[in-house]
Amino acid sequence: MSESSSVVKPDFLPDPLPEKQYEGKAKVLYPTDDPAVLLSFFKDDATAFNALKRGSISRKGEINCTLSTHLFQLLEREGVATHWIDSPAVDWMRVKAVEIIPLEVVVRNLAAGSLCKQTGLALGTVLEPPLVEFFYKDDALGDPLLTPDRLRLLKVASDAEVETLRSMALTINRILCEFFASCDLTLVDFKLEFGRERSGAIVLADEISPDTCRLWDRRETDPERRVMDKDRFRQDLGNVAAAYEEVLHRVLAVLGTSA
Ligand code: UDP
Repeated sequence: MSESSSVVKPDFLPDPLPEKQYEGKAKVLYPTDDPAVLLSFFKDDATAFNALKRGSISRKGEINCTLSTHLFQLLEREGVATHWIDSPAVDWMRVKAVEIIPLEVVVRNLAAGSLCKQTGLALGTVLEPPLVEFFYKDDALGDPLLTPDRLRLLKVASDAEVETLRSMALTINRILCEFFASCDLTLVDFKLEFGRERSGAIVLADEISPDTCRLWDRRETDPERRVMDKDRFRQDLGNVAAAYEEVLHRVLAVLGTSA
């Protein structure tokens, strides 16, 4: 069975479904009649550890698309440019066709994950100011952490673009930290991807969801029970889908929107 076999053609796409343009681990991109616009389908498929661990999380595609839709709109209202155009169905998003910059920009407020593994910092150490890191988006290379000199060497982005990415990432962090706190969730860290428009303008792309953010429940102190993100899948903590549902529920409650 192919990974995209669960794609059901929605009314807003021509019949037959156009040939997919790109399939990633969590989304499938389709072209539209307008070359400046792509359609993104959010899959339930879940992967971790560079796709060594594979599975599926019930309703993940719908939840991540809905969360990303609301968070992109929130960021746009705060002046952050994103690739989001609209969401014609719960698991479909119309986005600007941008040239993706092959960097994963990670912002960390508390130490977790690879930072703890690689530095020995204790889980949950407060990082003030927040740490911004650039990883090279290349599965074959295992998405390595880049130094400023390696960034320059690889020429994936100019010095000015790197500064724009850092500044946008910190602005997004400020907005999201405050928003998630209002949902009783701590934004521990998250990964962003950016794209270039034809004009050269940089916009936030990809998604913002429990797949790409570490979120800890402020109502829980237990180090396993507080985990509300993909670490439940990565670490086999159980109740993965329930955690994603709870994040969606809290976000919609704060926004005053029903599911
Ligand atoms: N992350 C992601 N995709 C990746 C790697 C990381 O969305 O390919 C997110 C991850 O969910 C976390 C943050 O980026 O919120 C930092 O991840 P880290 O570098 O600690 O890597 P991990 O421990 O997930 O391997």
